[in-house]
Amino acid sequence: MIDFEHVSKEYKKGGRLALEDINLHVDDGEFVFLLGHSGAGKSTLLKLILREVTPSEGKVTVLGKDVARLRRHKVPYLRRQMGIIFQDFRLIPSMTVYENVAFSMYVTNVKRKEIRQRVEYILQLVHLEDKAKAYPDTLSGGEQQRVAVARALVHSPKLVIADEPTGNIDPELSLEMMELLEKVSQTGITVLVVTHEHELVHQFHQRVVTLKNGRIISDTPADPEAVAARTAARERAEAEAKAIAERMEQEVATV
Ligand code: ADP
Repeated sequence: MIDFEHVSKEYKKGGRLALEDINLHVDDGEFVFLLGHSGAGKSTLLKLILREVTPSEGKVTVLGKDVARLRRHKVPYLRRQMGIIFQDFRLIPSMTVYENVAFSMYVTNVKRKEIRQRVEYILQLVHLEDKAKAYPDTLSGGEQQRVAVARALVHSPKLVIADEPTGNIDPELSLEMMELLEKVSQTGITVLVVTHEHELVHQFHQRVVTLKNGRIISDTPADPEAVAARTAARERAEAEAKAIAERMEQEVATV
């Protein structure tokens, strides 16, 4: 899914290295916290994955592609396979929940009916089906964050990246956000969560990669129990997704 081989990044020739000799492998379906203080190099690592910057040394492979060698016109295609959740959610206030989630699909050539089915399905997954017509400013913080997650999932991404998703919310909501992201990972999607919140991360028994001054200083694997729980939950989630899809098919058939 993601591979960094001896990757270094310097923004200015002869300047300080933002990242230094990074070796990191993330498997399909893994849940990884990327932890570090401000200035550790987290954003640089994300920018390399998103191909906003290219490595000064080494090789970055994302979804099977050497990102530095990717032609410019192929970059949007790579990014479309990823769902990104920003710190401030970036919901559009003049659009309903449904429109916020559907919006990015309108610019593709997916048919309206397919968009509707997909958006309704995703809203059910994050338990927002009753809020489809609501506007963001009428939602609670928890609901807003679920819209942000729904929007990240709408293109059926292989990888979801959450960039400091808990930066602007209270501890209870932070916990809820992480639980939701764990649920996302249980559907088989790879999840990378970037954060500086040490204490929160250690409540989750997932893999934690810690960056400091541009280097990986530790890489702690997930607890075996967390991995086993993910497998069990994935099976449950698949059954739930199948049930939702069947229910929707029946609804369509009866219309
Ligand atoms: P974090 O996201 O963990 O706060 P960053 O990746 O933003 O860390 O920063 C890592 C280092 O790279 C810092 O020393 C920062 O000042 C430097 N840096 C980040 N972006 C740039 C840039 N565009 N130009 C020059 N230096 C940068």
